[in-house]
Amino acid sequence: MLSNYTAQDKNVPDRWTILKLLAWTEGYFKSYNIDSPRLTAEILLCHSLNIRRLDLYLQFDRPLNKDELATYKSLIKRRVKKEPVAYITGNKGFWDSQFAVTTDVLIPRPDTETLVEAALEEIEQKRKGQREGDIVAQNNYSKNNEPEVKESKHIDSKTNIKVLELGTGSGAIAVSLAKTNPDVIFFATDISPKAAIVAKRNSLNAAISLDSVPPASSLHVSTVSSYSVPVRNERYKESLYLPNLSFLVGSWFSPIKHGTRFDIIISNPPYIPTDGISTLQQEVRDYEPRLALDGGSDGISCLREIMLSAPYYLAPDGVLLMEMGFDQKYKVEYEALKISQYEAPVFIKDYAGHNRVVCLKKIRALRGIEAEK
Ligand code: GLN
Repeated sequence: MLSNYTAQDKNVPDRWTILKLLAWTEGYFKSYNIDSPRLTAEILLCHSLNIRRLDLYLQFDRPLNKDELATYKSLIKRRVKKEPVAYITGNKGFWDSQFAVTTDVLIPRPDTETLVEAALEEIEQKRKGQREGDIVAQNNYSKNNEPEVKESKHIDSKTNIKVLELGTGSGAIAVSLAKTNPDVIFFATDISPKAAIVAKRNSLNAAISLDSVPPASSLHVSTVSSYSVPVRNERYKESLYLPNLSFLVGSWFSPIKHGTRFDIIISNPPYIPTDGISTLQQEVRDYEPRLALDGGSDGISCLREIMLSAPYYLAPDGVLLMEMGFDQKYKVEYEALKISQYEAPVFIKDYAGHNRVVCLKKIRALRGIEAEK
């Protein structure tokens, strides 16, 4: 480490400037096989100095004082012990934002963006469905019985679309979706009360970030302060958090009242086979919550459990979307085909080309059968 060097070492500068420190750390991380050594050094240095990455290069000659050096050194030590960067800095970029993370939650993965995309597409489908339904209804009820096509106002007001996320963890998925779909109502459950605290914090951060997003009509306005207040008043009124997202603590569906129906249910449940956990990267194995990783002996026990219960919480035509392991397609397909309430499963690939999301649509005909129950 830095302190192991003496002033006589010829590679060690007498004054640690940002640039010299980055070069040294890069080499040090390389010797410990840390991924992306330069980037990691940059992120940790920014975090300890509380500056942006760009500032590292704008201030490349800035010397660090003793306290700054000590803080940075402690972060380097943690990373060398294989603690993930996201836990060290307390946040991780996912979809279009930064999310707070602690060791109580899984660090959001780029793979999971496939699930977000799939959910967004389903929301759009449901929205279209409701709009068409509205037009038909309006036509049916027009006073003079003449067909009269009106555009629905759903996009800017409320739809009846309800989405449930199971095992929300940091809330990254639900928050990403709720933020850009204010007309949709979201519920998210997690068995861990500590995870729910992190998720609420992310909902709060998202609400604050939306505050500073200008309404389209005022994009020409150059200062943030001139539009932030009206946006908040109009959009959030009393709520500090995203007003269309509620977090509930409990296992999978347990906090949900029987009889509640959702148009879309989404989940990134644990799906690593128990025996496979010891073979995972040290960063994952030693630091991430086992509860969020362990998918039982065959890896798909949570996927199976959710698949079996979801039909009782899905609206007719409702859809269940779940993330799964890249090699679990056949196992998941086999299980899904055994459940008569679903149409044949559809699999969606991630950007690496792996089957990553299973999409299970509830069979419409069940409507009648259920009504008889
Ligand atoms: N994708 C994660 C990993 O491979 C696992 C996430 C999960 O089990 N849901 O580490």
